[in-house]
Amino acid sequence: MHSKIYDVVIVGAGPAGSFFARELAMNKPEFKIALINGQSKENTKPCGGLLSPSAQKLFAKYNLTLPNSVLADPQIFSVETIDLNTKCVRHYQRHYLNMDRYLLDMYLLSLVPQNVDVICDRCISIEKDNNLYKLKLKNTDLCGLSIVGADGASSIVKNSFFKKKAYRYTSIQGIYRCNNPHLPHYSCIFDRKTSDSCSWTIRKNGYYIFGGAFKTKGCREAYEKQKANLENFLGYSLGKPERIEACMLTSPKKLSDFFVGKKEIYLIGEAGGFISASSFEGISNAIQSGRLLAEAYSEGKNHKEILKLYKRKTRKLKLKLFLKIQKRKILCSPFLRFLIMKSGIKSVK
Ligand SMILES: Cc1cc2nc3c(=O)[nH]c(=O)nc-3n(C[C@H](O)[C@H](O)[C@H](O)COP(=O)(O)OP(=O)(O)OC[C@H]3O[C@@H](n4cnc5c(N)ncnc54)[C@H](O)[C@@H]3O)c2cc1C
Repeated sequence: MHSKIYDVVIVGAGPAGSFFARELAMNKPEFKIALINGQSKENTKPCGGLLSPSAQKLFAKYNLTLPNSVLADPQIFSVETIDLNTKCVRHYQRHYLNMDRYLLDMYLLSLVPQNVDVICDRCISIEKDNNLYKLKLKNTDLCGLSIVGADGASSIVKNSFFKKKAYRYTSIQGIYRCNNPHLPHYSCIFDRKTSDSCSWTIRKNGYYIFGGAFKTKGCREAYEKQKANLENFLGYSLGKPERIEACMLTSPKKLSDFFVGKKEIYLIGEAGGFISASSFEGISNAIQSGRLLAEAYSEGKNHKEILKLYKRKTRKLKLKLFLKIQKRKILCSPFLRFLIMKSGIKSVK
């Protein structure tokens, strides 16, 4: 039995995959495109669900709005930065939108035109056979002339074809039923005893999210230890979580960690390493890289040209994210962070 052959198969319908599918289908209506959506309500992407000003700017650029139904309660105007070791606390103004991440993904997916085949399934293997990429999904098989990995930090596309691995944390988020109005609405937490990265708490639709990024070895113990340290600092117990979610989280450390693919295989979003190392803000970078690849597909005559164009177009994005790696070095250095926080520079008094 022959499976259907697509010009482009996109694995993953997160912000990168959906946005790329939308742009490509509009620019190249003659293309046969498949978008594999492996997400379901029971298996959602763990995320803080904060939409950054850069992501809002991209929405503006594409004349997109955001339905109220995607927004979560409450909206937040500042971040409380807490260093659990020095007990230093500072508030900084922020302009994020607090959203329900699953509903944002569903909204972006709803913008994908009808000429894209959206296949609700999970890809379990991919191999190249002559000029064709053969994808085995849980419930069906299909083939593509080119593949786009938009499947996040644990990308099956990247892992199937490339040895390159960017550094990854294990991110753990606990969702707590907690309405204590005295807890920070949104905080960024540093605790060098349990993680060399930052953690966060966010109020969302009657729940309190406490999440962080931890070295994979011993991540659960580190999470529990940090939670105890935070509770100690707040003088309040979050109690038992209603649920715990976890996933890998890319943290680029060098320029070569931003990797766009080879031959007829392209990587966008977190699969390509496009995420801020300092704040883990990834939605805008996912959308932006998807948009740049769609432009490259429109302008390139063959895959060699498309890849070249995509590499060139992502230079600015890579540079921006490279600067975030440098920013992270400053923020995650206990001494420099202490100096910045102590100085009160840019903080809300
Ligand atoms: C805990 C946490 C909190 C975060 N908070 C924020 C935040 O507040 N704001 C922000 O901007 N960024 C945040 N990020 C980063 C952000 O979530 C990601 O960088 C962004 O979602 C990347 O988008 P993407 O489309 O590249 O990949 P993803 O959003 O990861 O989407 C990948 C999609 O591919 C699907 N998929 C994966 N494998 C397969 C497969 N084999 N077959 C089919 N489908 C597959 C997944 O189900 C998923 O739907 C956070 C990340 C984590 C882990």
